[in-house]
Amino acid sequence: MPAALCFFLSRRFTRLLRRCFRKCIAMAKLAAYNGAILDSLSKINPYFVTGVFALTREVISASPDKAKDDLESFEGWSMFVFALPINDQALWIWHKAENTRLLFANYVLMRASQSIQEMLGAADVDSVDVPSRFGERLSMTVLGERAGLGTRGLNNLLLHPEYGSWLQIHAILINQKLAYNEPLAFSVCTECNNCISACPAKALEPDHFYSNRCSVLVASPWLSRSKAIALTQDSYIECAECITSCPIGQEPEGLFAWQR
Ligand code: SF4
Ligand code: SF4
Repeated sequence: MPAALCFFLSRRFTRLLRRCFRKCIAMAKLAAYNGAILDSLSKINPYFVTGVFALTREVISASPDKAKDDLESFEGWSMFVFALPINDQALWIWHKAENTRLLFANYVLMRASQSIQEMLGAADVDSVDVPSRFGERLSMTVLGERAGLGTRGLNNLLLHPEYGSWLQIHAILINQKLAYNEPLAFSVCTECNNCISACPAKALEPDHFYSNRCSVLVASPWLSRSKAIALTQDSYIECAECITSCPIGQEPEGLFAWQR
């Protein structure tokens, strides 16, 4: 074989080898980060459900205007979405302190987010807690749908195929490629209309959610029409008629037992 051809082939072979090597490193990194993140979560609670999607130009363009500019700086990052199934009644109790109120499940999610961010920080990977940075500007239901955790039901909440709407959702933006999920290819909601009939505020219609009607009653145990339950002066259970009436998922044992 002529020397020139040998040289050409060996250069091509080296380039191919390098490319394979880089691909293997990227795949090993991807598996390592995915594994490390899931490991962090499982130490806090073994039941988390998770999904990831890439924050591409298309995803940013389809986001609400109020979040778009801020999201631009994270193009190419991974959106890691994780949700805590409400399988223990303690997770569904709200606590008030002066002007703030917190659902215990959200406290667990904040702790989980902190733990993942610490782990990523130690590996020099940047991350941003999405609810802290974006607040109400990004809907957790939309993020959950994109990450393949479920689909929006007529109750206006994310419906997971197993847990229904008995979930609280959180998200972290991570400056690292991860293994991505696709949105579910089917609707979890059966359109049985149970949630619409059960809502005491008439806040749900098949194609519209009257958030103001819901917000008046959802956390107001002292209003007669509200289905919220006062536990102590500073703790209560929100109205959950649109979740309990849904055939998908199961309410945590004992949550409403005292009322029946
Ligand atoms: S939380 Fe209660 S008031 Fe709000 S939409 Fe659901 S059922 Fe209606
Ligand atoms: S109660 Fe029925 S209509 Fe409402 S979200 Fe659940 S499955 Fe869908």
